[in-house]
Amino acid sequence: MDAKEAVGFINVTRQCNVDCKRCYLTEDHRSAMERLPHHTLEVFLESMFWQGRPVTLIWEGGEPTVVGRVAMNEYCAVARRVLPHADQTMVTNCFHVPNWLIDLTLHEFGGRAETTYAHAQKYTLAGDASLYQKRFFAGLDKLWNSGIHCPVNVELNIETIRAGVDSLAAAILGSQCRVWEFDVSVDFRSFLNQPSYTAASVPQLPLTASYSAIWAYLNEMESRWGAAFLDAGITIGAFQQQIGQLNNQFNVACESRFLTLNPDGTVTTNPLYSDLSATFLGNVGVEGMDEILRSPKRKARIIADRKRISPCQGCEHISYCKGGPSHVPVTDGSGECAGGRGMWNQLLESSCA
Ligand code: SF4
Repeated sequence: MDAKEAVGFINVTRQCNVDCKRCYLTEDHRSAMERLPHHTLEVFLESMFWQGRPVTLIWEGGEPTVVGRVAMNEYCAVARRVLPHADQTMVTNCFHVPNWLIDLTLHEFGGRAETTYAHAQKYTLAGDASLYQKRFFAGLDKLWNSGIHCPVNVELNIETIRAGVDSLAAAILGSQCRVWEFDVSVDFRSFLNQPSYTAASVPQLPLTASYSAIWAYLNEMESRWGAAFLDAGITIGAFQQQIGQLNNQFNVACESRFLTLNPDGTVTTNPLYSDLSATFLGNVGVEGMDEILRSPKRKARIIADRKRISPCQGCEHISYCKGGPSHVPVTDGSGECAGGRGMWNQLLESSCA
């Protein structure tokens, strides 16, 4: 049996309390009061897919906290009963961090949660961008001040790049969070308006910024602010990668290991595909988990995930980089790649110096 870690992303709802303009979920689902039935969750977790291997279950939405304390505690208890060996954690948007979330994170998730952030294109439901930023950092600080390790995954969108490195560096240095990661930025709104898939049901996702712009931005961030981050005890994953260590970017080589469950029972692989209906493998209440796992679509996407890294042939970094995030192409014609070859080259040079 495959001993690689399996990761289950469980959307307890797709409802959200924030309006992200490039969200991967449709506006209809973000405003609908969907709730995941316990029976659907049980069927999903009773699959043999989770047996004989390490498992992490990640509670997601939408925003999972909108379901409330009682419902979240019940979901965690169901998962603990059905899959006692699984670690559990949560991705929250930090917009509203109630005290019960702190308790749940400390007691059920080993004091670990994650969050996502963008420096632009995020609003309250009433359309206020600055209030979103204020509430995000207040919520993030509350988690860290309560002893919760909550890394931020920054969507490095074109607006953030255009604003320059000083603006984001000031936000990072002003917060209590000590771990920051970066992710490529996809324009899901354009995709949802005009979806396009390969024959293997892989979505062709448009990026908001080229790889060369992203890695140039990160290079500048490190040269101008890297020392200040170190002094403040702030870890920036992309700056502290090491040759030979596995790529710490999100969603690397994931199609065979990830399953995402929606509140209506539909299942896909990558959580970013939660509303990309052509990627759906089936419904736990209709086809059942065995058929979902055997689905030709799943097999085709696993094969496509392997073929995706053909441009990496001959790259000296392939054994640890693994081609960068699975949901975007390896190259975009900009001269850089999803895995950040320039960064790896620099790391290799400094490790040989
Ligand atoms: S650095 Fe780029 S080319 Fe090399 S393995 Fe990573 S993604 Fe592929």
